[in-house]
Amino acid sequence: MSDRVVVVGGGISGLAAAHEAARLGRDVTVLEATTRVGGKIDSGFVDGADLPFPVDMAADGFLARQPEVTELCYELGLGDALVSPTGAQAFIWANGRLCSIPSPSVLGVPLDADAVAASGIVSAAGAADFAARIDTITAPLIGDASVGEVLRPCVGDEVFEHLIDPLLGGINAGNADGLSIDAGAAQLADAARAGGSLRDALRAQVGKAQAAAAGPVFNGVEGGNRRIIDALHTELGDRVRTSEAVVGLDRDGSSWLVRTGQATYPADRVVLATPAWISADLISSHAPAAAAPLAELAYGDAVLVTFVIDKAQVEHPLDGSGFLVPRAEGLLMTACSWASSKWAHYDDGRHAILRVSAGRTDDARWLHLTPDELVAQLCDELVQTVGLRGEPAIRLTPWKRSLPQYRPGHLDRCDSLDAELTATMPGVTLTGAQMRGLGLPACVRQGRQAGAV
Ligand SMILES: Cc1cc2nc3c(=O)[nH]c(=O)nc-3n(C[C@H](O)[C@H](O)[C@H](O)COP(=O)(O)OP(=O)(O)OC[C@H]3O[C@@H](n4cnc5c(N)ncnc54)[C@H](O)[C@@H]3O)c2cc1C
Repeated sequence: MSDRVVVVGGGISGLAAAHEAARLGRDVTVLEATTRVGGKIDSGFVDGADLPFPVDMAADGFLARQPEVTELCYELGLGDALVSPTGAQAFIWANGRLCSIPSPSVLGVPLDADAVAASGIVSAAGAADFAARIDTITAPLIGDASVGEVLRPCVGDEVFEHLIDPLLGGINAGNADGLSIDAGAAQLADAARAGGSLRDALRAQVGKAQAAAAGPVFNGVEGGNRRIIDALHTELGDRVRTSEAVVGLDRDGSSWLVRTGQATYPADRVVLATPAWISADLISSHAPAAAAPLAELAYGDAVLVTFVIDKAQVEHPLDGSGFLVPRAEGLLMTACSWASSKWAHYDDGRHAILRVSAGRTDDARWLHLTPDELVAQLCDELVQTVGLRGEPAIRLTPWKRSLPQYRPGHLDRCDSLDAELTATMPGVTLTGAQMRGLGLPACVRQGRQAGAV
């Protein structure tokens, strides 16, 4: 057993690692470079909005069917704060109007050709192409591939670009053509591995999920996901040191010395829960073969702008959870979540809360706009899409270099990284969104595993 554990990085992954290490009775310290823990999780008030509660500035929910965050919330005494979405339908912005996403669908893949044709999201030719392809018998997928390589032949280009890419590419501000199906859409990978008709494989999954269904698909936390971070911080207390950026790792016999600008921390075990390029820097002199693929991992830049306005000043009834925007539509926004309709805890009866995202790996327009220009353009697009009238209160939260892009072979590279690190830097573990999943449940799972070693 390793007693002194130093966790580098105080995002959800690092805090989950520390929580687990502390639970196991280890002497744990978390070193966080910035003045606040939480990393890419934050909730806050929107100035001038007269809203009595904070709003999530990035992740607003997490998969409940992967139970790690939900379980952690119970451990932290937040069980009563767990909430689930209202179940309102989602839309796609297509051809200048909001169209309902055809139902049923699995991760953006529609299962009913008539619903696709009726949706108005694709042309008649695109709907016919989908109908002709969806029952094609395919050989079982072997190894990893991109979502595009696997799905385009089964659904056609139009359905892929207008339904699947906005959802799966949007999750990491990337592009489903470049996304590893194993790392980014495991459920679809399982269906493709079954071979035969994709539709049959997905229908079988839906059937099993319905049979096993107990409780909601997603959860959120009333008062914002920041509460999970605050609860972890409170539990860990002064074992968390903020404003301490780690600048180096030195060997000390079979242990490690973790250096910050202020101090040196001896450790039997080091958990690196930092973004890939930071971890790469920290291990490069000891494990160059592991550092290289980490340094090369690309990240997407995203921005989230929260608009709050009286419901009466939005023409659309906002009778849904929001909408996604295919890249071909040319808008700057990639998605608009109608938070006050999607979550009951965000509905004060008076305000519409619209959380608008922009940024894709192949669309960096927002990075070249001033904040005023960005907000003005997104306001124009809200006028166009939902009929925004009047002056909303606004909070802009940039998340530069925030979303790791998993290319095909990503999970194999993670295995090689782990093996290389075990061989060259025993006692040092990599964890976090850049490894085996960027959703909050995956971060908590990986963090806790790293903290338990
Ligand atoms: C806009 C947006 C929306 C999202 N929405 C969802 C969602 O709805 N549902 C969902 O499940 N997931 C969502 N995600 C993904 C999820 O929030 C992230 O993948 C997750 O929070 C990453 O956590 P992490 O701890 O691995 O990394 P991070 O949060 O990046 O934490 C890393 C920490 O390391 C610190 N650090 C960096 N360098 C050093 C150093 N040298 N020394 C010490 N500390 C250092 C950083 O300051 C940071 O605090 C979203 C992400 C974004 C950006």
